[in-house]
Amino acid sequence: MNKDQTHIPHNILVIGALGQIGSDLTAALRARFGKNHIVAADIREPVQKEGPFVLLDVTDKEAIIDVVQQHAIKEIYHLAAILSAKGEQHPQLAWEINMKGLLNILDIAREYPVEKVFWPSSIAVFGPNSPKVHTPQYCVTDPTTVYGISKLAGERWCEYYFEKYGVDVRSIRYPGLISYKGAPGGGTTDYAVDIYHHAVKGEAYTGFLSEETALPMMYMPDAIRATIELMRAPAENIQIRSSYNLAGMSFSPAEVYASIRHHVPSFQVDFEPDFRQQIADSWPSSIDDSQATKDWGWEMAYGLEQMTIEMLARLREKYMLETVSR
Ligand code: NAD
Repeated sequence: MNKDQTHIPHNILVIGALGQIGSDLTAALRARFGKNHIVAADIREPVQKEGPFVLLDVTDKEAIIDVVQQHAIKEIYHLAAILSAKGEQHPQLAWEINMKGLLNILDIAREYPVEKVFWPSSIAVFGPNSPKVHTPQYCVTDPTTVYGISKLAGERWCEYYFEKYGVDVRSIRYPGLISYKGAPGGGTTDYAVDIYHHAVKGEAYTGFLSEETALPMMYMPDAIRATIELMRAPAENIQIRSSYNLAGMSFSPAEVYASIRHHVPSFQVDFEPDFRQQIADSWPSSIDDSQATKDWGWEMAYGLEQMTIEMLARLREKYMLETVSR
């Protein structure tokens, strides 16, 4: 048994397990701590079950309590949310799900023997008056989206539950995440996933942000590793109980296009900014994550070129397999 497994003698619940992050995180936790220790939950049914799964609505507190008790859950990763772009189309729904869901989880961690909670925040907590470059951990946070407002309020609640009730809650402000497994769920950085799919399928792509809009981004394996490292760090190392800045790379649509063109010379892209441009314009272009490095040893591994090589290779495999199995 490896060292990590000896640290996990108990069961973990992942809520929002079928989403872009949840699908990778659930697989990584299962690979590391054993399939039957990880209970996946979502509001929709999976296409294929790869371990214990429960249908669950995170706004239904009693239903979550039942799952926590039945499965003797000791850790919760709460990922269910309405993301930035979708949230602007449904502001009330975004507020309801994002806030009620988090408060349910924090309350359950306070009232039941749940030892640790992970909840992701986002670079969306920053706004037009936050410093744009190398945005520090502590600065003006004036989000302009309902999503960002819900994340900022969520961060304050997390710190409150830690200070007042001793809930061991840990959080990361994820940048835009890029992955080949799960489809993105309606965020402002989704273009950076879609563009790879189009390149591999031999289709032209129309991006929804302007070509020079640089945003903080991260390849999913780095985000998953950061999440697990934060959750395994000793509690006394965790100095920030609102949410940690986390930086990966920073690039614009033009830069990711150039990086893909290097491998797919015939690939064509044009840029037609829509309502998401305004959201992107209010966010930082790069992030200072020195506090995460100092407290729990965070270091990013993937840059743009390395990610492009891997995304193209994995997506080619995926589409090839789909063609073969048809
Ligand atoms: P996603 O939209 O891909 O997945 C969310 C999952 O939650 C979906 O499977 C959905 O079915 C499920 N869900 C929705 N409502 C639910 C409910 N009421 N009860 C239970 N499940 C419900 O989102 P994601 O990209 O995987 O993001 C996960 C978390 O990470 C969110 O909190 C998001 O704000 C945060 N985040 C994501 C990114 C990113 O780039 N993907 C960046 C910053 C922060």
